[in-house]
Amino acid sequence: MTAHLSPDTEEALRARVAYFRDLGVFDFYRREGTASNGIAMETRIVTEAMPAGEYGTEADAEEASAAASAAIEDLETTEEMPRKSALHVISEPPKPAAPISAGDRAAALKAISDDIGNCTRCALHKGRNTIVFADGDPNARLMFVGEGPGADEDAQGLPFVGRAGQLLNNMIAAMGLRRDQVYIANIVKCRPPQNRVPEPIEANTCAPFLFRQIDVIQPEVIVALGSTAATYLLGGRSPLAALRGRIHHARGAKLIVTYHPAYLLRDPRQKKEAWADLQIAMKELGLKAPKTAGTQ
Ligand code: URA
Repeated sequence: MTAHLSPDTEEALRARVAYFRDLGVFDFYRREGTASNGIAMETRIVTEAMPAGEYGTEADAEEASAAASAAIEDLETTEEMPRKSALHVISEPPKPAAPISAGDRAAALKAISDDIGNCTRCALHKGRNTIVFADGDPNARLMFVGEGPGADEDAQGLPFVGRAGQLLNNMIAAMGLRRDQVYIANIVKCRPPQNRVPEPIEANTCAPFLFRQIDVIQPEVIVALGSTAATYLLGGRSPLAALRGRIHHARGAKLIVTYHPAYLLRDPRQKKEAWADLQIAMKELGLKAPKTAGTQ
């Protein structure tokens, strides 16, 4: 018989799994039988329960969708919330008095870009080639937020155009969308030296512009790509594993947290977990994966 774990025990187990993940241990095996405290070892570690197909078949999509729904139900009430931290809370700009209408959004985004100008508000300007404002549809229902531009983005002035960007394009295609149907931006708009993580002062200086972009676009769903995006959109740090698999909220949009494509390039085994996260976003948007979704 399988005993259900108490929420505290389940939480402790999840934290343990996340801890080993952060150490680079990814494979877990279930031991037959019963643990010494009498709890059967068959647990519901949902992070291990996603289907094998990557950005895969319709059957995978349906299975992942069911798993994602179960994960949402399981996790919505039990997972820890990010610990709020003054370092990571953006001084949020006021929301527009009224929603910006679809026809006015491109001009409203241009006004934000003009406000940014040839920005020297933080130290990142010293090493940048180009400000990377964003890319995509001002009327997108889905927005992706990354960390900050890398070398390719800095050279081209567009977000996610390097190797990580190619993987992001595949992820978008697997969702049944084209890149020009979504909106893509970053926490900071200038490339950090050596692609380091932006300092809080840099993120806090830059992200209010991102928040204004979000207010203009009013996406239904935002996907935070990686820990930096999640931290600043949520106003606090938590291990990524504790944030994935459920719906958060940011600036009026539903927020899903998943792995950064650059991380997925380093550890492709996590792609199926990222796919499960994207399935949550798709479910919220009423999207179905195309029959021949990409696999890389
Ligand atoms: N990584 C990011 O976080 N953003 C980009 O635009 C490119 C790589």
